[in-house]
Amino acid sequence: MHIQEKTDSAVLSPFDAQNDPFTMAEVERLLGGRTRDIYLKDKISELFRRRIWSQTAKIIRAWMIWVALLDVLTLALNLLMLPRAVALSMILPGSFLPPVALGVAFVWRKPRAHWLQTGVLIAGMFLILLSIALVGASAGGEFYERHLSIMLFVAITAIIIFAIPLSSTITIAGFSLGLYLVFQLQNPNLEIASSLDATLFFAIGIIATIVARRTMTILAQKTFLLELRDRRRVNQLAEANARLEHLARTDPLTGIANRRWMMETLDQLWGHSRKYSGQVAMLMCDIDDFKNLNDKLGHAEGDRCLIKVAGIIQSHMRRERDHVARYGGEEFLVVLPEMEERKACALAERIRESIEAAALSNPSSGGSNCVTLSIGVAVQAPGGSISPEQLQRRADMALYRAKQTGRNRVELYRPGD
Ligand code: GH3
Ligand code: MG
Ligand code: MG
Repeated sequence: MHIQEKTDSAVLSPFDAQNDPFTMAEVERLLGGRTRDIYLKDKISELFRRRIWSQTAKIIRAWMIWVALLDVLTLALNLLMLPRAVALSMILPGSFLPPVALGVAFVWRKPRAHWLQTGVLIAGMFLILLSIALVGASAGGEFYERHLSIMLFVAITAIIIFAIPLSSTITIAGFSLGLYLVFQLQNPNLEIASSLDATLFFAIGIIATIVARRTMTILAQKTFLLELRDRRRVNQLAEANARLEHLARTDPLTGIANRRWMMETLDQLWGHSRKYSGQVAMLMCDIDDFKNLNDKLGHAEGDRCLIKVAGIIQSHMRRERDHVARYGGEEFLVVLPEMEERKACALAERIRESIEAAALSNPSSGGSNCVTLSIGVAVQAPGGSISPEQLQRRADMALYRAKQTGRNRVELYRPGD
């Protein structure tokens, strides 16, 4: 069961079509017209066939097994109930039906080349119907005509339930009627006119079943087209939602995470119990004398400085592990899971040096005329269990001390802060 599903999804992926604009334009065109005018071509036709393959194959296999069983059962019953000579005459023509039916069922066990499956089905159907007709012809008498009627009944059930291309349906219908006519013309108990009459009568019935089959196919095709359209719309909506969600969590100026995203990250890290027992470091970074930069160089220059500083901090992060967010105006919060105190301080120092080395202009800032960064570091030891808010407060306190003690420096939180 599991393997079958896997095979189906690997081989048949009709919903990939929703990414193809040409296919989707064709879907819209078909849905825009009248239902009865729906005619699937090329790629969509192939996709539809793949989509319904598993169901069609199941029905064909079940039908083949049903016909084989019916054949064996009737032959056995005939042996019990009919005169021996008649029953025996039925065995030879009736005995090739089960292997043919089971052979077709076998070929339809898994997806194969379209021409092969269609060819085997049509040839198989011909042999099955021929076998039924031959059973009647070989038994003769009342059985002759009765078996031809049974043959047409068998053909009609197949026409109605096999969701195969119309051309195949018409082929099966055509040779069932052909067999009927040929055998009836040979029927010693029937006049030619009577044979033609009966064939015409059944032909009308079979045409009606073909029309019914065609209607069912068109409705299934319409359902498939609607399914394609729905899936695409749902996907578009999901993509738009994802984009919106990303925007809502991103700082529009610097493109890094915003405070909201950082809060969510902290919540995830600390989990529902609000306890994170692993080691984690926090760096609270604040640009020094930023107001001065804004005042001297203008707000636009201030914005450019923020973008550059964000980029520099980000470049020091370990991929998939560390998190940086623009926390406020010119403040950045960095969260470093599984990082010990010494390494966290060393990293903060490297960030500070990189900002200094970038030599971004900030006239009369700390005498250097360059943008500098103060960083407060706080670390939760392994096995510790303080809340993210507490850890952040500690990083803030360390930052405050960095500002107090001259800026452009890294300070580690101390319990006395
Ligand atoms: P300190 O060294 O003590 O941190 O001093 P500071 O001047 O950096 O700190 P302060 O809090 O006095 O000023 C921060 C400034 O950041 C004030 C505000 O105008 C500016 N700011 C906040 N957000 C933005 C922004 O998005 N763009 C720009 N250009 N400036 C901003
Ligand atoms: Mg500040
Ligand atoms: Mg500042």
